Amino acid sequence: MATSRSAFSVLPATPGFARRLLTADLLSVGSELLAGETIDTNAAELARELTELGLRVGGIAAVPDELGAVHDAFARALQRSDVVISTGGLGPTPDDLTREAIAAVVGETLVVDPGLERWLRDLWARREMAFPEINLKQAWLIPSSIALENGNGTAPGWWVDRPDGRVVIALPGPPREMRAMWIEVVLPRLRQRQAGRDVAVRTYRLTGIGESQVADLLGEQMLRSTNPIVATYARAEAVDVRISAVPVDDEDAAPSQPGGTAAQLLAEAEGTVLAALGEYIWATGRTTWAEAVDAALGDRGWTLATVEVGTRGTLAELLSNTTRLVVAESRATETGDQSTGDVDRLAEEARKTAGADVGVALRIMARGEDTAASVAISSPERLHHERRVVFLGGSLGRSRAAITAASMLLRELQGELQRAGSASPTNGHR
Ligand code: AMP
Ligand code: MG
Repeated sequence: MATSRSAFSVLPATPGFARRLLTADLLSVGSELLAGETIDTNAAELARELTELGLRVGGIAAVPDELGAVHDAFARALQRSDVVISTGGLGPTPDDLTREAIAAVVGETLVVDPGLERWLRDLWARREMAFPEINLKQAWLIPSSIALENGNGTAPGWWVDRPDGRVVIALPGPPREMRAMWIEVVLPRLRQRQAGRDVAVRTYRLTGIGESQVADLLGEQMLRSTNPIVATYARAEAVDVRISAVPVDDEDAAPSQPGGTAAQLLAEAEGTVLAALGEYIWATGRTTWAEAVDAALGDRGWTLATVEVGTRGTLAELLSNTTRLVVAESRATETGDQSTGDVDRLAEEARKTAGADVGVALRIMARGEDTAASVAISSPERLHHERRVVFLGGSLGRSRAAITAASMLLRELQGELQRAGSASPTNGHR
């Protein structure tokens, strides 16, 4: 592609734009999304990226491949947001209508860009193939658009600057192409435009507590606050409490609030969350159970062996990315006696047989509609066991039992650290 990079614009030297880019709308173009044939992963990815950048995403819409519908979606989104980002509809076929729709919304005429046309024809020439003239529409630009380089496909993206400072960005639909263009081309441009607010974010990961109890302990006032925003998310592996704050003087509303930077507001809210929920927190950010367990083992320089009974390997699966997990054994059926002593023996055997520092044994049994889990942890310092009943049976019960075992292991490792007089637990706050 070296010959034709000039077809793509480089970053402007001086931005000189007045409008701050603080809000965004996402449009996912493609009838297959509305037929349920394709899952809209693009919007989810971009929404997360934009939120991290400090833009507020005001809407996500899936739009069929119909010119009127795509046109209206862009027009609506441009009325309320500073940045409108679409994915899809940049292909060569007649049902790919994103360029036509944007041109109509901004009232400009589509023209074949000679540089892009050369770049496209060259792509086919290099493979010694005839250029399908249908692809010429991928060389289209409008006067207010520039082409964004696509290193993974034939569809260039578009960046359109509106006279009022708003921006329209059209990205290709295939996630590989979309992601690369976002990272390599769009993100640097948005950063250069200083898009987004200064935002401070912290996510606490909780276990052993339900979302409604979390909400109860945080209180309605905290959950209704608009800055900082405190939100709870019930996920399979954790209940997440996510706090995000922007500087007070940067807010659209509520000028009566006390002053503070994003970091100050975040720290205040963190204090409240830790006081209310600290004992349930096992990690921060997007830490997985495997990562948390790995880090805690790493602090002691220890390795781990697991044995589980009746769980179909759920614990091994949960911890499969734990580099310090040396042996993970799964037994299909329950054998021998069902006393806790048996689980203790399993944990010690697992540890000795594998030559690991820590052995964990998990055995589950149906308890009515629910699942009874016995966990034993054998470490160089002590043997510890606990029993719990987790909500529901089947695969949900198995997965909750595995998380219970991982959580006990983590506590045990962190407790060992404290007993050994070390400073603080590695993962999250207790
Ligand atoms: P298009 O650019 O509309 O021709 O999209 C090409 C392909 O990209 C589609 O057939 C899908 O496989 C994929 N795709 C399009 N939009 C999305 C989306 N929002 N999320 C995930 N994949 C998508
Ligand atoms: Mg399409």
